[in-house]
Amino acid sequence: MPRISRQTIDNVISRVDIVSLVGEYTRLEKKGADYWGCCPFHNEKTASFHVIPDRKMYHCFGCGAGGTTISFYMEMEKVTYPEAIMALAKKTGIEIIYDGNDVNYVPEDNKKDQYKELYTRVAGSFRYLLTSTEQCKEVRDYLSGRGINEETAEKFKLGYAPRDRFWLKNFLRKKNYSEEFLNESGLFSKKNPDVAFFSDRLMFPICDRMGNVVAFSGRILNGDGPKYINSSDLIQYKKGETLFGFHLAKQSIRQQKAAILCEGNMDVIAYHQAGITWATAPLGTALTEEQLKILQPLADTLFLSFDGDGAGQKATFKAILLAQKYNFNVRIIRLTGGKDPAEILLNLGAENLSNQVNSAILDSTYLLSVLADKYDISTPEGKKRASMEYFQYVEVLQSDIQKETCLEQLCETYQLKPEAVKADFENRNSALKNEPQRNNPEKSVEQVIIKPNAEVRAMLAVISNLDFFPTLRNSLTADDFEDATARDMFISLEECYREDSVTLDNIIRHCNNDSLQRLITKAVTTDEFTVNSEQTLNDSVRLIKKNSLGRHKEKLMNEIRQLSLMQNTLEIQQKLESLVAEKMSIDSELQKYKE
Ligand code: ZN
Repeated sequence: MPRISRQTIDNVISRVDIVSLVGEYTRLEKKGADYWGCCPFHNEKTASFHVIPDRKMYHCFGCGAGGTTISFYMEMEKVTYPEAIMALAKKTGIEIIYDGNDVNYVPEDNKKDQYKELYTRVAGSFRYLLTSTEQCKEVRDYLSGRGINEETAEKFKLGYAPRDRFWLKNFLRKKNYSEEFLNESGLFSKKNPDVAFFSDRLMFPICDRMGNVVAFSGRILNGDGPKYINSSDLIQYKKGETLFGFHLAKQSIRQQKAAILCEGNMDVIAYHQAGITWATAPLGTALTEEQLKILQPLADTLFLSFDGDGAGQKATFKAILLAQKYNFNVRIIRLTGGKDPAEILLNLGAENLSNQVNSAILDSTYLLSVLADKYDISTPEGKKRASMEYFQYVEVLQSDIQKETCLEQLCETYQLKPEAVKADFENRNSALKNEPQRNNPEKSVEQVIIKPNAEVRAMLAVISNLDFFPTLRNSLTADDFEDATARDMFISLEECYREDSVTLDNIIRHCNNDSLQRLITKAVTTDEFTVNSEQTLNDSVRLIKKNSLGRHKEKLMNEIRQLSLMQNTLEIQQKLESLVAEKMSIDSELQKYKE
């Protein structure tokens, strides 16, 4: 590799403004000639990070970090000196001149940059195919059908990966990339490196915080296969340390001091098109601490906008716990009037979507409402279980005042005696202290003996024969399960499916419960469920569905009974009619399950 010239390095050092560079990572305030902010290298609440523009230096009085513009960038982005110079030069529009005369700075492996260039080029080609070819009319129609306009598609550089799996290799070979370089790029199958990893998919380029394309996510258009597939970790890309659309959102996140975290790429795109440009998303996996660390310097408040289904609720709960650990204010957006932001934008318009964001509720309010649905809180047992789960949340709160307030809210909402709640909460704490290995909220789920009832057995049959899962998820949702263990198993599988990694290892990793993990391991190793499993499974699916419909019907009938006791107003009348209609449709569905 050629060396970067001294002249280029000097240019970068003199022209990059340290205040605006540091300002991309932490909020700075001017005091006299200098700037102060919270240190982006350690976790703090009071500003002890000092930036001195005249000297182009920074120093943290908290953790002792300090250095120059270049060392700041190297530390923040975990890059080498030459990589930092290259990136900052590009950012500032400084021409990079190479020479062989300066031996002080020998660029190390800058493969990362080469792959970023390759990905940017491929994204450009996919974009061209989408916008300019006749064969892509269908894809363009899909986008406009989902309400995504040209401007937004351009902003997110959406593209199309052709059906012909050999096209990409041929195309890139003609551009003189080496075979070895391309085979290592993650764009091709490991087994057959001439075959492209993405084919016949709508392509979402994933960018680093500077806007360089570093990976792809592809949505299926026709045929079978997972709905989304994503690049795995690459030299230039770590899934758990990247947020989709962050490069487009970071400016607004800083201005709003808030970020919206949503479920997927399409959600981010819909929010941006609606003018809510502070939305971003984790990449097909659960939210990670690294991702929160990206947002922490810019935002005080996180708005969570995940799906309302079982898997989405579990993801929301985990995200709340993690966000509270990092001391964010957390709000939950409960979308109504469509299944996702794109549908709401299309049907109800940007203003409606924006109003829904503005009426986001406190995380504590959200949890109390979800737990009241999950456990029947008209019973003492239900109240206890709901409270126990809520305590996991109170536990992670960073301030005592916050804890107190949230416990008060629990008492008011569930009509519990404050003394009793306080005692239960404190007993729970001392129980936890005696058992340090259960300190992790994930692990503190009650260690009950699992009864292998029909629902659990059905899930064990599926885990023993993972090929069945796509069929199962087409017939059932998490809410169809009555048994909490079976429901957790289903949700774990669903999470693995969405990560495109339905393997036993991953499923066990997702089941945060020792007894459950043992049960699964035993079932799989003893082949208990591989005999006649298809028949067992079909029978169980029918049974589960039938029971779920039965419970739903029961609930509706209760509501109908209660409503008919109330004074007969127009509103009540309308409610009754819709409940009756719903009950009738359940009746007709139930007919299908009568032998
Ligand atoms: Zn510090």
